[in-house]
Amino acid sequence: MLDASNEREAFDRDHFFHPSTHMGTHARGESPTRVITGAEGVRITDATGRTHVDAFAGLYCVNAGYGRTEIADAIAKQAHELAYYHAYVGHGTDASIQLSKMIIDRAPEHMSRVYFGLSGSDANETNIKLIWFYNNVLGRPEKKKIISRWRGYHGSGVMTGSLTGLQLFHNAFDLPRAPILHTVSPYYFRRQDRSMSEAQFSQYCADQLEEMILAEGPDTVAAFIGEPVLGTGGIVPPPAGYWQKIQAVLDKYDVMLVADEVVTGFGRLGSMFGSDHYGMKPDLITIAKGLTSAYAPLSGSIVSKRMWDGLVSGVDELGAFGHGWTYSAHPICAAAGVANLKLIDDLALIDNVREVGPYFLAGLKDALEGHANVGEVRGEGLLAAVEFVADKDDRRFFDASEKVGPKIAAALFERGVIGRAMPEGDILGFAPPFCLTKEDADLIVAKTKEAVRHVLG
Ligand code: PLP
Repeated sequence: MLDASNEREAFDRDHFFHPSTHMGTHARGESPTRVITGAEGVRITDATGRTHVDAFAGLYCVNAGYGRTEIADAIAKQAHELAYYHAYVGHGTDASIQLSKMIIDRAPEHMSRVYFGLSGSDANETNIKLIWFYNNVLGRPEKKKIISRWRGYHGSGVMTGSLTGLQLFHNAFDLPRAPILHTVSPYYFRRQDRSMSEAQFSQYCADQLEEMILAEGPDTVAAFIGEPVLGTGGIVPPPAGYWQKIQAVLDKYDVMLVADEVVTGFGRLGSMFGSDHYGMKPDLITIAKGLTSAYAPLSGSIVSKRMWDGLVSGVDELGAFGHGWTYSAHPICAAAGVANLKLIDDLALIDNVREVGPYFLAGLKDALEGHANVGEVRGEGLLAAVEFVADKDDRRFFDASEKVGPKIAAALFERGVIGRAMPEGDILGFAPPFCLTKEDADLIVAKTKEAVRHVLG
């Protein structure tokens, strides 16, 4: 006879198709089922009663921290008053209208309107359609190609999985699909020519982009998409001057910029948006995760004034915009967004990112940079990563089969802290909730040091 938890694990193995999970090992019970039952602040508790510091804020999304009653109450109030109405043909709710205003008030000055979705992936799908629609309206039907970057992450739909530049998300899915192209990753640590300075490498990235645009024909290239800081591809801040140089190439060939701020939007870098942080001038900004701190699923495409004016100029001919989701601007999710953004302001959580982020990074550097297998410790705001190498002088990487990154993440987990083994390379990522204290940061650093010693000596 199975006891309750064994029975639950059997149901899980037999019926739950988990995202981003090894199907075989999970179904055979070789990898553990973890049932999370509660959370408070930066800590989560599982069904066995164990508590961990969640130094990755779920999937870098619980920015406000766990257990925020202000957000939970706003969700409950909205559910009682009006759980749902759609946003088609000009409908709205107080929550969706108020949230639109709050987003535009916080966005870079040249932004105009927000189109709501539910996930980062669907927001980027919307972005691609907006760009195509825009160029059709402007009478440029050939201008449709989108350039992304190797190691970029933009979702896992058909088009957004194509934008994503990581093999795991392409393998056996017949991706990437045309008309999506990938240019070099702004990953200074992994540059091929190690004699290059950061500034030279940024110039190299811009030159590569320009070459690609010219080879394809500028009249066929519609947009470039990038995360201000590469996220899932390795948590890599851009090399010095990168965005200025990229922006200049885009402006030269009238190629739009999509800033994918699903991770960086609403404070993760210590600025409201990564676009402001790095002086980018996007035509579209993708937002999700931090918009509601994941208390409810909500995403958005923030549209620039220039793009809005272009789109509007075509509607008398084309009619209503034929794109929408049943749950666009869902009132419960919008209410969560309003309460979340208000809480981030009221508690000055972005100030805390600015204070604790550099403190945490300095702690990681101090504890780990001297280790023979630590190639780089990097970060920005409350995003950080430690990259492991087999040999530091030659910058030789470990073989993927050795699973060094996952082993270190597992050792860290055993010590009560959750970090994330990033999918390509041996990279341990951190993106804690914004309410992280310096004491918590010290704890994460100390446990990481122990975990690294345990695995690599
Ligand atoms: N864009 C970026 C930069 C992301 O990091 C993610 C998810 O991690 C996405 C898009 C996709 O978001 P979602 O998983 O909500 O579809």
